[in-house]
Amino acid sequence: MKTRKFGDDVDYNLYNFDAAERVCSSHINDEFFKKLIKGSTTTAKCDYCKKVKPVIELSELLRLIVIGIDYLFEDPTNFKYLDKESETYFDGDNFYFEEMFSERLNLQITDKDLYNDIYNHLFNDSLYYWKDEYGSHTEYLFDLWKIFKETVKHKARYVFYYEDTFRDFRLGDPINILHDVQKAINDFNLFRIIVPSDKLYRCRQHKELAEVKEAKDICSPPDCYCKTNNRMSAIGISMFYGSLKEEVCINEVVNTSDTTMPFYSIGYFKSNKELKLVDLTKLPTVPSIYDEKENQYIDTILFLKEFIEDISKPVNVSDSAIEYVPTQVVTEYIKFNPALKADGIIYPSSKAKSLENIVLFKDNAECLRDLDFSLPSLRVMKVRQLK
Ligand SMILES: [Zn+2]
Repeated sequence: MKTRKFGDDVDYNLYNFDAAERVCSSHINDEFFKKLIKGSTTTAKCDYCKKVKPVIELSELLRLIVIGIDYLFEDPTNFKYLDKESETYFDGDNFYFEEMFSERLNLQITDKDLYNDIYNHLFNDSLYYWKDEYGSHTEYLFDLWKIFKETVKHKARYVFYYEDTFRDFRLGDPINILHDVQKAINDFNLFRIIVPSDKLYRCRQHKELAEVKEAKDICSPPDCYCKTNNRMSAIGISMFYGSLKEEVCINEVVNTSDTTMPFYSIGYFKSNKELKLVDLTKLPTVPSIYDEKENQYIDTILFLKEFIEDISKPVNVSDSAIEYVPTQVVTEYIKFNPALKADGIIYPSSKAKSLENIVLFKDNAECLRDLDFSLPSLRVMKVRQLK
């Protein structure tokens, strides 16, 4: 992935942070700053509205604004070719402070005096350039997942991890995105422990009334029956798709318009030991560019959001087989990753984002070894009763 310098290359000499004023949360609409100022432990008179409220030093506000500026822009004199035809003598889309601050940064300040103070403190005559020089920041982030998908769908499905082979001029190596995913899962502690008392529901829709009689008939299918691609597992690879809630499980599995399979069976398993699942339902919100600790995760969180969006899309039978390849690759990367040691993934249901589905990385034999089926919980129902 493209290397970004997160705040550590701030050129402090370029800006004047020397200010005595204090500012409350009323004069800036940016959510990150509003929250930061409201949470300040310093209560004092705000120099802009004269009210006694939680405030932060203007000097600190200026420093954080520069963190954001530095996240988005860089100085073209560092790397650009001179272009004598151009107004600024550099090629490409570069601009001066005034345009960067008033048109590109979109810092939402509602107080004119505060705006002017910030402007005057930070004003300088150097040039600015989008760090994503071939498009906007948002486009770049959207492209991460898109380019990754293109690579594993149309270039290399099994060896995309070779360094420098599939490098994109904006993306870097596709494998690096996955390493970032691993880092984000660990850094944000996106795990949930399933304990042996938790019920893991499984549901199967079938033809004959008495098709499901015991655990082996309703846990993950034997490999030879894995004849279709799934969002997370490829043909031939068996996994346990289920849910912690019975109704979510039924809703997810049963297709009420399929008259060839008029029955469904539902029952629950319990794990005979604790399971560690990667919980993708508690992904943090995308950090602010001004957040000096968290802004390094913006790319990865947006990548994971796109991934989650794709795994929780309703399954469409007409989707071509390769549509599932990217999510299968990410799932396999999580499954076999020694730094994660995960037993499965919790992800949002395709039917409603607030509901949770689980996938356990267990095939038929592993289910029978590691999970205990509650035979009394097994019920066979008619699909038409759901209508
Ligand atoms: Zn104020």
